[in-house]
Amino acid sequence: MDIETRLARVGLGSDPATGAVSTPIHPSSTYAHPGLGETTGFDYARTGNPTRQVLERALADLEGGVAGFAFASGMAALTTFFLLFRPGDHVVVSDDLYGGTYRLLEQVFRRFNVRASYADLTDREAAATAITSDTRALLLETPSNPLMKVADLVALADLSRSRGVLLAVDNTFLTPYYQRPLELGADLVIHSATKYLGGHNDLLAGVLVAREADLAHRLGFLHNTTGPVLPPQDSWLLLRSLKTLGVRLKRQSESAAHLAGFLREQASVTQVFYPGFEDHPGHRVMRRQTSGFGGMLSFRLADPERVPGFLKALRCVTFAESLGGVETLVTVPSRQTHCDIPPLVRERMGVTDDLLRLSVGLEAPQDLIKDLDRALKAAP
Ligand SMILES: *Cc1c(COP(=O)(O)O)cnc(C)c1O
Repeated sequence: MDIETRLARVGLGSDPATGAVSTPIHPSSTYAHPGLGETTGFDYARTGNPTRQVLERALADLEGGVAGFAFASGMAALTTFFLLFRPGDHVVVSDDLYGGTYRLLEQVFRRFNVRASYADLTDREAAATAITSDTRALLLETPSNPLMKVADLVALADLSRSRGVLLAVDNTFLTPYYQRPLELGADLVIHSATKYLGGHNDLLAGVLVAREADLAHRLGFLHNTTGPVLPPQDSWLLLRSLKTLGVRLKRQSESAAHLAGFLREQASVTQVFYPGFEDHPGHRVMRRQTSGFGGMLSFRLADPERVPGFLKALRCVTFAESLGGVETLVTVPSRQTHCDIPPLVRERMGVTDDLLRLSVGLEAPQDLIKDLDRALKAAP
């Protein structure tokens, strides 16, 4: 079945006893055993919960993996991924990674001697050079946050396989609706489901999906042992949200293309980062490995001094830190999502104070364009 059909049918048939079309929420933390050594398939809710299980199976199916795991946040999912490693192990991650992942690596995992190198993973040679005999994994986002750099998943899967390291892809920006890294050879997909999968700015959740049983088994052990699981009520809300993922993301992508085109024409905007532009350096790779360009874009204002005035003048676009929801949000990455990255590193990456990131929502694009136009022209 097509992914649109599978999304609309998420959870359908999950409760044959009643025929409920919406998956029931099971709040029980424990389950009665029919007898010694017998189980209904559930015994304790950290290990398994019927509502969460429907969600986890749906996520595995959508990403094309053998098993999915639902977490209380994207950071909980990323933490569990890094718990796969031992002291002395090394990971290579993309150099303009989500700021929270950088903070987790530098301020938490470094204490346990799990070290990270930052490389431009849009460049296969740079990726190959960064891999050492201690490297256990590559972790990347494509397109990246916030500079929309595109990594070649097939090339990196090839490289990872030949060097015996895992390839993990944070697929938060495009979701399985537009990009399925496991089908291109990645070993693991990570999500902040707080973003597009949840889609309404009302839920915090994270996801891991593994391509093969061995990795799934190790992640399942960590998920149960450390316990950062998604509660049943939130599992239900995420199931409910997944049903409309396709229509949301399609519309958000169409609007993002409009907004990117508009912003590029503005004299007060010096640069627009949007992989849907034919002259974007990652455009061709993107066409090969994804079926859409997504709802995210970034841009630079000619005068960084005007950023505060621009943000104040917006009426339809909300100045807030997050993305992927029905409401259009604008973020200043250097001050918000990426503020834990040292200023010099940030500058080298290009995440400077003139950079704004836009997550395009479901409003009429002409209203968004009017709003941006007025804010760009507002007095500083
Ligand atoms: C938000 C985000 C995260 C962190 O997820 P939370 O749900 O906020 O914990 C990780 N990666 C990316 C790309 C994100 O946008």
